[in-house]
Amino acid sequence: MVKKMIKNDIRTKTAASFISIALLSIVVFSITINILIINNFGIYIKQSANAEFDNIATLIAETYKETGNWDDTSSRIAHSLMMSGYGIVVRDLKGNEVMKIASMFSMMGLANNSKTSTKTLPVVVDGKKVAYVDITYTGTMPMNKLDYKFLYDVNKYIALITILTIALVFIISLYVSKYLTKPILNIAKVASKLENGDYDVRVEDIPKEEELLTLTAAINHLGASLKSQGMLRVQMTQNIAHELRTPLSTLKSHLEAIIDGVWEPSKERIESLYEEVVRLSNLINDIELLNKIEIDNLKINKARFNLSELIKILLINYESIFVNKNQHLEKNIEDDIFVNADKDRLSEVLINLLTNANKYTGEGGNIKVRLYSEGQYAVITVSDNGIGISKEDLPFIYERFYRSEKSRSRDYGGSGLGLSIAKAIIKAHNGTINVESILNEGTKFTVKLPLDL
Ligand code: ATP
Ligand code: MG
Repeated sequence: MVKKMIKNDIRTKTAASFISIALLSIVVFSITINILIINNFGIYIKQSANAEFDNIATLIAETYKETGNWDDTSSRIAHSLMMSGYGIVVRDLKGNEVMKIASMFSMMGLANNSKTSTKTLPVVVDGKKVAYVDITYTGTMPMNKLDYKFLYDVNKYIALITILTIALVFIISLYVSKYLTKPILNIAKVASKLENGDYDVRVEDIPKEEELLTLTAAINHLGASLKSQGMLRVQMTQNIAHELRTPLSTLKSHLEAIIDGVWEPSKERIESLYEEVVRLSNLINDIELLNKIEIDNLKINKARFNLSELIKILLINYESIFVNKNQHLEKNIEDDIFVNADKDRLSEVLINLLTNANKYTGEGGNIKVRLYSEGQYAVITVSDNGIGISKEDLPFIYERFYRSEKSRSRDYGGSGLGLSIAKAIIKAHNGTINVESILNEGTKFTVKLPLDL
């Protein structure tokens, strides 16, 4: 029931917990105060009773001195003594009772024996003992009225403070919870907008609290990456369409020409059509490969082999593409570096890096290929002094179908899948691939693979 009445939000919960903590501390505080006061009162009352006993003895002595006899003394002090709760019996030095005043309470039968305290004091007049007085405190009032009033006042103030504190705590907790929940609500708003596909929204009010700051940064980052993912998806579909359209329209127009009898179906023509078909099927293979990578289904057949030898052979096989562009190829291959890897897949990666360097570097450019070991890794670098990649393009080059602005403006013939595949293959080998590039100056790719020592 109570649970249902309390709203299930941070605001209510903060207020409730603040108030219960405040109430608990007030209760503990007031119990402690009451115990302390009552205990100290006991001591205080004993002390004041002792002082009172002395006062009564002095009063008797002084009154006796003035009046000179016990009867007058008795009638003078009887009234005030009776009202105070003290009873006295005065005996002369021989032990005869000369005066007796019973307290009002004992007369009324209210005296409580357990609380009665008695003391015998000498009555001294002019330095001489004239009698002894037994003073009895009947103890019906362990605390006098004033003491009670004090305790009552203390508790009244505690009650007042409690009410004030609750009011104050309530206001503070409302403020604190509002302060805390505002950024969370902001984030929730942004999150639901993101959910609805509005990828441009961001959390604008950056909170100061560390946890909320992390949450805000995460949601803003999510927004940014959803936006770029969305853009990439659109671009990717466009790119697939584009990549398929070019060879298909070539095929279509050439086949039409042959059907219409415009072209002879010569061996060369059919061979060139065949090349287009191969290009298409390679593209489909690449897309398929990437999807396998995506769903973590890439088969890697690892075996120990000599990476130095593989690179040397690839460089010989691909030398012609560099020669054709008058590019100078500098090789620096450390011997006998062994890795435990999928040789065919690694070859794909290296061929893509070599053909990229070749494609994106002009006539007469320089291409450097290095292999060396560094710690636990085999390091392969492929650098060129070609067209380079702009800062804006750099974060996206591993995205499928992504081609830099500059490489798209001139047709370099790639489809933008090579590096996505390379990255996935290197990752599957627990390696890394990194790029450094400056637009119009050159590019350097660095691949690191665990050595097989
Ligand atoms: P594919 O390799 O699928 O035939 P591609 O070479 O265009 O096509 P990637 O190898 O993935 O695709 O490269 C992606 C993009 O990165 C390239 O289109 C190009 O814009 C840029 N790029 C890659 N290597 C270099 C390089 N060495 N110099 C300049 N730009 C490069
Ligand atoms: Mg490529």
